[in-house]
Amino acid sequence: MLNCHYCQSEASTYVRYAKMHLCKEHFISFIDKKIESTLKRYNMIRKNSRILIAISGGKDSAVMLSSLSKIELNLLPVYLDLGIENYSIEARRICERLVSMLGMKLIIISLKDLIGMELSELAKRAHRPYCSVCGTVKRYLLNVVALYAEVEKIAMGHHLDDLITLIFKSLLTQRLEDIAKLGPKTESMEGLIGRIRPLYEIAESENSLYAEYSNLPYLNFKCPYAHRGDLEIMIKDFINRLEENFPGIKISIARYMAKNVDKFKSEMKWMNCKSCGLPSSSECCSFCRIIKRATGESGSIVKEKIKEKIIDVLS
Ligand SMILES: [Zn+2]
Ligand SMILES: [Zn+2]
Repeated sequence: MLNCHYCQSEASTYVRYAKMHLCKEHFISFIDKKIESTLKRYNMIRKNSRILIAISGGKDSAVMLSSLSKIELNLLPVYLDLGIENYSIEARRICERLVSMLGMKLIIISLKDLIGMELSELAKRAHRPYCSVCGTVKRYLLNVVALYAEVEKIAMGHHLDDLITLIFKSLLTQRLEDIAKLGPKTESMEGLIGRIRPLYEIAESENSLYAEYSNLPYLNFKCPYAHRGDLEIMIKDFINRLEENFPGIKISIARYMAKNVDKFKSEMKWMNCKSCGLPSSSECCSFCRIIKRATGESGSIVKEKIKEKIIDVLS
């Protein structure tokens, strides 16, 4: 039997890159410290800031919320219910359980309440691929909630493996401009709240262990529309083999990237969307275009509804 590096208990896991055997309790505190130092390393937040935490019902955002709840921060967990069949119903139930377990209040934004239809109907009417509509809607809604809730940052649960996989994929497919989006954070600007990735240096396997050891409730299945291409699966396998041979290399890659992501940024010309007034790269933002096409209405109506809801919830 191997003892924990910090106490006399039996070790439950071995963290290779840190060369430490750890019991459950000390593994959790090891990850908590790692997340806290990630926040500091990349200068993600200030003390006591109000942070919107986007939770999905999956294990990664559950770990992020649970760990950040131990730091002195003002957290605002938000779940976007896009009405994706049973998946959204189950995810919503799990988010409610998680948030009440941590003694917080959950803000639920339901797409159906906002526009009278669910995601599949919206995508169908807008004649756009499902996952691209989903991405646009999520980005837009989270930003609007963040604006009216006056948070400093939006925290996303993307972890180390996902980010490195996407970096390699961007290199292989030569979509280098995509790399600019894969850093630990983005800055805020007028009308657009910056994002942070507190799990930037946390591996997927560490998230799984943390969730298990902390008994966090999370969904065991992914969105029915999510699919990972063969290329991503192979890259993930490759980086895991790299890590086996060179423990700690994933974190090193992430740190190199964090220094260089800005070099891949293309000059973006921002303007204000003529429909909702928020920053956009074209005359009308992609969210407003989708809403107009599908419902005939202006995206600014959605924005107003969210404003009312947030004022109501936070008062
Ligand atoms: Zn221990
Ligand atoms: Zn707009």
